[in-house]
Amino acid sequence: MNVLVATEKPFAAAAVNGIREIVEGAGHTLSLLEKYTEKEQLLKAVADADALIVRSDKVTAEVVAAAPNLKIVVRAGAGFDNLDLEACSAARIVAMNTPGQNSNAVAELAIAMMIYMSRGQFTPATGCEIQGKKVGIQAFGNVGRLVGRKAEAMGMSVMAIDPFIPAEKIKEMGAEPAASLEDLYSKCDFVSVHIPATPETIGSIGYDLVSKMPKGGVLVNTARKEVIDEEGLLKALTERPDLKYVTDIAPDRIAEFQEKCALRFFATPKKMGAQTAEANINAGLAAARQICGFFADGCTKFQLNKF
Ligand code: NAD
Repeated sequence: MNVLVATEKPFAAAAVNGIREIVEGAGHTLSLLEKYTEKEQLLKAVADADALIVRSDKVTAEVVAAAPNLKIVVRAGAGFDNLDLEACSAARIVAMNTPGQNSNAVAELAIAMMIYMSRGQFTPATGCEIQGKKVGIQAFGNVGRLVGRKAEAMGMSVMAIDPFIPAEKIKEMGAEPAASLEDLYSKCDFVSVHIPATPETIGSIGYDLVSKMPKGGVLVNTARKEVIDEEGLLKALTERPDLKYVTDIAPDRIAEFQEKCALRFFATPKKMGAQTAEANINAGLAAARQICGFFADGCTKFQLNKF
């Protein structure tokens, strides 16, 4: 089988070497399309691919249509909003992600962002400490749970909410369950967002929630920019000069955030949550193993779509 790795933003060399070892070791061939700049390059490369590994690359209906042999696509990472699952299902292509493989990298970044904002973006102004503060984890999945554990180790108290995890279970996992999102936002000095971008969550965090935060509240977003209602958030930040927003995914209206919020706003220049050597390798190798498992014995663990 021909396994294509198509990455606009390439894996680290060590990850590619590891993927090659796994894929070729299982008797398949590996093709690479790295740092491509035009969609046409991807459309051409997928023409004879049986399997596809991508990172944040968009696998659209057009890509699926250009890949008549494709049987499986694996997003090396957690969020899979870059995969058109409907198009994959219609073409009977198994779509997977590699959950948990980059969670630690993202969780470390979320903690770093809390400290960075508490210390006035490392300007000499007097800052504050995160110890003794309360962090609210919005979605207690792989990343959210790790943020909770790390925050606790730093002396913070942890509250969490997740519509798919009962309060009892959240308690067992060491966090105080929030009764509602309003409860979480109104009681937490920091809110760390870990919801996926879905039709239900897109634009769901805006004025109503953020303006409920206590004095000095910091919203930390390592999830997706789409989950933020930018207009509502800007309104809350403008009305409340004590609130802060830090994000790993630059908002569309970044110039307005910068102008209105100055040091109360920070966005990483490029999404860097999963951008560590370890996460790169973990997610890349997991993707390669999942593909080999699928071809060897039909293993569909981590399949995202149904058909
Ligand atoms: P995960 O799948 O382990 O956890 C997601 C959690 O969200 C689950 O517990 C689930 O119950 C909950 N959830 C699902 N639908 C929801 C909804 N409609 N409303 C509220 N909660 C909902 O994912 P993860 O590994 O913890 O990653 C979380 C998100 O972080 C990903 O979806 C992705 O968008 C983002 N992410 C960003 C980076 C980065 O580089 N910044 C890297 C990895 C993941």
